[in-house]
Amino acid sequence: MKQKSSILLFVLSFILTMNAWAQQTGHRPIQCGSSPSKEMMVKYREQGKAERSFVQTRDGSVFNFPIVFHILRRTNGTGGISAEDVSREMNWANEKYDGAGIEFFQCSPPEFINDDNLFYTTFDHDWEDFCGQTTAEYEIAGDHNVSNVINIYYVNTDGWNWGAFPSALDDCRDWIIMDIADTGSNYLLAHELGHYFNLLHTFQGYDGSNADFENITRDDDFPFCNCSTAGDLLCDTEADPNGWSGCAWDGSGTDNCTNNDYNPDEKNIMSYANGCQEYFTAGQIGRIQYAALFLRNYLNCPFLSTCQASWNLSNTQTSMFSYQATDFIKSTATINPGVTSAYDASNYVLLKAGFYAKEGCDFHVVPEGCWGPVVFKTDDETHPDIKNDEVITRSYKLYPNPAGDFTHIVFTGEGDAYSITIHSALGQTVFQQSFTEAKTQRDVLLDLSTFQKGIYFVTLNTELDSETISLVVQ
Ligand SMILES: [Zn+2]
Repeated sequence: MKQKSSILLFVLSFILTMNAWAQQTGHRPIQCGSSPSKEMMVKYREQGKAERSFVQTRDGSVFNFPIVFHILRRTNGTGGISAEDVSREMNWANEKYDGAGIEFFQCSPPEFINDDNLFYTTFDHDWEDFCGQTTAEYEIAGDHNVSNVINIYYVNTDGWNWGAFPSALDDCRDWIIMDIADTGSNYLLAHELGHYFNLLHTFQGYDGSNADFENITRDDDFPFCNCSTAGDLLCDTEADPNGWSGCAWDGSGTDNCTNNDYNPDEKNIMSYANGCQEYFTAGQIGRIQYAALFLRNYLNCPFLSTCQASWNLSNTQTSMFSYQATDFIKSTATINPGVTSAYDASNYVLLKAGFYAKEGCDFHVVPEGCWGPVVFKTDDETHPDIKNDEVITRSYKLYPNPAGDFTHIVFTGEGDAYSITIHSALGQTVFQQSFTEAKTQRDVLLDLSTFQKGIYFVTLNTELDSETISLVVQ
């Protein structure tokens, strides 16, 4: 790939999400320890009423929720899993949450915790009495939790994984624990995040937890129809007695009440069918969105706060979910998975509609000093052809920058007419001039001797678009 370097560095990383880890799935039934207490179920039923009366006002917008991954390794940095692994886990989760209008992003690079003592500890699960515990789980979370993000720890457990319900905000245990050995399951993180967004297991109550058995019937006229008050409190998830052999329902039993046959859904992410989970039901998505709006709405990546002013959702890229920095490179490139490249972007990163990262990529734009958003989605239908790697960067420079009495504005033209506009940091136009015949490289010497010291924004407008570079006058 073409590569350049200059004043401000933007890192674009493409994270491979395919293939290499598939062999790690299915080595044993995956266990999830998330089950509500009796008190929580009381809250749940109350909340269920609010959810049902909650009128969906979703307008197609996407909730972006920040994740910080914490990866435990040996003191010498071996063991554990890699940054690529957790990116892949998150990508899988994002696929499952696509229909729920939720997209997760890493709001900082993964944190590697190198500690032999903790690495060789089998993390125990405290099922109740969460507050005041001193186990390894609380020790690591106490030292490493980041406020107002989804903290996800990859540690060694004896087989359990655990996602906090929103009610855990009151229970001193608001994080997600993943067993390193379960890395590579394409649904497990989505499942634990389901708990994080308030979903119960489809078999709630059949696991000995504090929920009533959910009967099979969905017939409101039937006196034993209890799907809104028993089990997972949702009527579009089938009653599930959790009798799975891999993805196959063992087929046995009726609920003794309605004499119907069980027909649980092995593809429901909140079931314990092993390895075939694909989706949430509409009822589950409603609950997730209710949680997103009312229970987890405080989530906010702290590391973006100083960067966020320079990031704006682009209104012009309707086919891609994108963020735009204050200066940009243009790209109509096709990018192969697994590529990490650094580009001179001066101050802008802007991907045009022709940009295409191959299926299996996530595309991250990271401005210097920030660890930032997410994520360009590709549109396979509009970009069916896979092209060779290529990044097209418009040549547009200011030098020197920072500048004293003068600076050169150098660029290659696109079309015959262009103009240069300079705004002050307060938004005042302090310079404007139009030019023609820009087909070849141009070098405009700009007199800055009357400019006050400070930051200015130099915008090059061509017939096609505009680009802005920040200029420091000293
Ligand atoms: Zn679970």
